[in-house]
Amino acid sequence: MQERIKVIEQRIQAACEACGRPRASVGLIAVSKTKPVEMIEEAYAAGLRCFGENRAQEIVAKKPLLPEDIRWHFIGNLQKNKIKYLLGQVELIHSVNGEDLALEIERQAEKRDLTQDILVEVNIAGEASKQGAALSQARVLIALCDELPRLNLRGLMAVAPLSENPEDSRPYFRQLRILWEETKPLLSHSPAFDQLSMGMSGDFEVAIEEGATMIRVGSALFGAREQKLPNEKREMPVIK
Ligand SMILES: *Cc1c(COP(=O)(O)O)cnc(C)c1O
Repeated sequence: MQERIKVIEQRIQAACEACGRPRASVGLIAVSKTKPVEMIEEAYAAGLRCFGENRAQEIVAKKPLLPEDIRWHFIGNLQKNKIKYLLGQVELIHSVNGEDLALEIERQAEKRDLTQDILVEVNIAGEASKQGAALSQARVLIALCDELPRLNLRGLMAVAPLSENPEDSRPYFRQLRILWEETKPLLSHSPAFDQLSMGMSGDFEVAIEEGATMIRVGSALFGAREQKLPNEKREMPVIK
């Protein structure tokens, strides 16, 4: 694990140097989904502090077992009935992908009297298999999130289509960056619209070159994930 982290860190630094960006301008989110608490502890011991999960129930289960200064990032498809488990618990929800979800986060954040940092997820390649707002609807969703007072809109997120060749991701990352830059001056209530979450194990160097401020790296840090059984039941604690 230590060795893997070192290698990733060197690759991030090399990518930053190659395009003249400071290392501090790129945040590393260690995607720990499906991985045990022990591996997160190891990564924490090696200095990592930001961890990404794609199921609310996994954050709920892992968070109390781990150091309090871990900053949790939610990167998965969020069902409305799981919002309550994340509000005030995660630093950033990367995956606001529709108006209904945005409005429901707003409603629940208002009820709890808190503000939630979020990104709008864009389905940048228009893939049927992917989450995210269609490019044609992204501007409307961004404008809505900008208006909602309990949502602190921090930027945009996307997942490039699966490919063996990282260069294939480049046009999509570039498109997301352009949308991010074009949208910025149109916002009225989002003074910190400064995050671009893109790039994963297979393509994070290209993402850094294209302007990512956060990369989400799972398998390159923690090893390959096993497939989950589709109907696995998980216990959820009750939150009122
Ligand atoms: C799983 C996941 C990642 C990490 O993927 P790797 O290829 O393992 O690095 C990044 N982003 C999202 C949204 C994910 O679901």
